[in-house]
Amino acid sequence: LEVIGAVEPRVAAAIRAELADQRAALKLIASENYASPAVLLAMGNWLSDKYAEGTIARRFYAGCANVDTLETIAAEHARTVFGAAHAYVQPHSGIDANLVAFWAVLADRVETPALERAQARHVNDLTDEDWAALRRELGEQRLLGMSLDAGGHLTHGFRPNISGKMFDQRSYGVDPATGLIDYAMVRDIAREFRPLILLAGYSAYPRLINFATMREIADEVGAVLMVDMAHFAGLVAGKVLVGDHDPVPHAHIVSTTTHKTLRGPRGGMVLCQPELAEQVDRGCPMVLGGPLPHVIAAKAVALAEAGTPAFRDYARQVVDNAAALADGLLRRSVALVTGGTSNHLALIDVSIYGLTGRQAEAALLDAGIVTNRNAIPRDPNGAWYTSGIRVGTPALTTRGLGTGEMDQVADLIHTVLTHTQPTAGSKARYTLDAALAAKLSQSAADLLAPFP
Ligand code: PLP
Repeated sequence: LEVIGAVEPRVAAAIRAELADQRAALKLIASENYASPAVLLAMGNWLSDKYAEGTIARRFYAGCANVDTLETIAAEHARTVFGAAHAYVQPHSGIDANLVAFWAVLADRVETPALERAQARHVNDLTDEDWAALRRELGEQRLLGMSLDAGGHLTHGFRPNISGKMFDQRSYGVDPATGLIDYAMVRDIAREFRPLILLAGYSAYPRLINFATMREIADEVGAVLMVDMAHFAGLVAGKVLVGDHDPVPHAHIVSTTTHKTLRGPRGGMVLCQPELAEQVDRGCPMVLGGPLPHVIAAKAVALAEAGTPAFRDYARQVVDNAAALADGLLRRSVALVTGGTSNHLALIDVSIYGLTGRQAEAALLDAGIVTNRNAIPRDPNGAWYTSGIRVGTPALTTRGLGTGEMDQVADLIHTVLTHTQPTAGSKARYTLDAALAAKLSQSAADLLAPFP
């Protein structure tokens, strides 16, 4: 920070403040974690200066021997940790990983002259006419994913996202009574819609998915099964999700982020069956530009960590902690979508307190608890204000908090929700007594103090 501060003190100050914030507050955002010092240091170095477009041993630049080494190590670890036939570790983020996966499936499964023409050239050389032909050909392809309000991700065909524009898109929701995926309904929609890609995975679904059943449905309608395991990759690596709940043996292609439960650097990755490997490796230049060698190095470190017995203990504890947090909330009559959790996250329905998710999120932050608002199934408040709060345990578990502390976390959340008043006529404004908020923040800090 001294070196950075000598150049731009405000940047050093903001980094220092971020560390202080992340230390002081209860981090319950289900998609966040604390990467290890080894992961962070692998990112902050000279690898950042290197261009290495292409794939291992087939680069468009000279001098890529070290990047080849790192990418080989990262891909080896990924294949071992997940038991995958092929791993592509270049995507810069989860959204990039999904785009790489979509394009790989399109290129493999769809015969389109426009796509072939496009792939033969660099993306910058494509003319307006080429793009129009591509849109005509590819817009006819169908994607079936989980709807946003049921817990799916915006890259799973949500209209404002490119995935909703690239594909003729349809979505499946959850059973209105239970909040659970209704596989019979998924099957019915798939039979009628006949998608090219059946996409499973979520950002805010608090239960497990049966990927064997999803594969059966995909096979029945001739679809490719793609799983976006961004949220639960750490639970797969840590062998908490096995058998029908492990996507890797069932899916044709699996995308993920590397920074959530997996506890690596911000980034993405694609795993696939051998027949899709060649197309997946064309992620650069079809979707990606130069890889981020420093992030690939950090992915290699994080994946090495994910293969250890300690990481298995961690993954198990994440799920135990989530169950304890959900129990603590339910005992205090806090409403949870699906009535609990089977993974690393729970979804609180805050509407019974007359609050929107936005109000609850802000009030919780005042009390030193960092969460995010989230739509619940058939949410009357939409995706901006929402009626839900998503809570997850990956970050607190990394700090060493256990099931005993989770009950105290539940108590703090319950106190905030029951003492926050919505402002009449507003979906954003609220009041929470400042002295109470300060007292709760202090309790949160005290709870965290033994876990620096
Ligand atoms: N897929 C899922 C299921 C996610 O939850 C997310 C992030 O929230 C993404 C993809 C996108 O990841 P990124 O933010 O790295 O683009």
